[in-house]
Amino acid sequence: MIGGIVAEIAAEMAAIADRGTVAGYIPPLARVPVDKFGLAVVMADGTLHMAGDAEEAFSIQSISKVFALTLALGAVGDQLWKRVGREPSGSAFNSIVQLETEHGIPRNPFINAGAIVVCDVLLGRLRPREAIGQMLRFVRELAGDDDTIRIDETVAQAEQDTGFRNMALANYMRAFGNIHGDVGMVLGTYFHFCALAMSCRQLAMAGRYLMDGGRVASETGPHRVITESRARRINALMMSCGHYDNSGDFAFRIGLPGKSGVGGGILAVAPGIASIAVWSPGLNEAGNSHLGQLALEWLVQRTGWSVFEPRAG
Ligand code: GLN
Repeated sequence: MIGGIVAEIAAEMAAIADRGTVAGYIPPLARVPVDKFGLAVVMADGTLHMAGDAEEAFSIQSISKVFALTLALGAVGDQLWKRVGREPSGSAFNSIVQLETEHGIPRNPFINAGAIVVCDVLLGRLRPREAIGQMLRFVRELAGDDDTIRIDETVAQAEQDTGFRNMALANYMRAFGNIHGDVGMVLGTYFHFCALAMSCRQLAMAGRYLMDGGRVASETGPHRVITESRARRINALMMSCGHYDNSGDFAFRIGLPGKSGVGGGILAVAPGIASIAVWSPGLNEAGNSHLGQLALEWLVQRTGWSVFEPRAG
């Protein structure tokens, strides 16, 4: 049944003319054709359903903030929360406004300022090259994938060349003492994380640990990535903060933990049921995939997977 729904939604999306606007702030993203659409769903039993351009790699951008947070919690545990909050910002992903009154403590780890602090935390123990290598190994392992997941250096360089707002955020937080390391190195790491290129299939596979209480099934049995309570909390943050100032609307329409990126990808999690990745590069005004959200909305309507759906037991 789910295989049919996935195929049906991809076919319906292909017929929609209003696809949003592709991110234009860097040429490698601006070049991506607006008619791309991919959907991949990995079920708790490991079965995989895909449609459209689900095997084509795209820039995962801010979806990497989920993996960076997972690594940072593994490195420093709950100490992290002294430096990053857990509240939705109600502001754009790259906004600086709240940092002044909130003394350089970003509202949450999924806005740019928060993710930059997360990178600084990772660099407390590693050099940039090591942190980037650790991230790449981590997502490859989570996806159960070979070496095809990579960092697109053209994207990383373009982020670096145009990242003036991110530089402002990092320097501003440095002034408050909430960036400890070298600002250039922290941003270089952040830009490389944003430049991870993955397909919907790889992303849905990588999200399995959030579907399954912090574990991933492997040939040798379940492998624990993070504790159950951390997986639950990351899902809570994805639900409340994963779509910036559009997070309330995402919860309202879709009712799943989700994280978007300006490359047009969304990773969504139906705990205990499925890990879902969708990609359509046209964005809405908040910088979230327009058709990606619509596809997820139709998917939950047809499957009843919203976490707010009454469940037996
Ligand atoms: N590279 C983008 C930035 O830092 C990522 C933002 C996003 O995906 N929302 O501005």
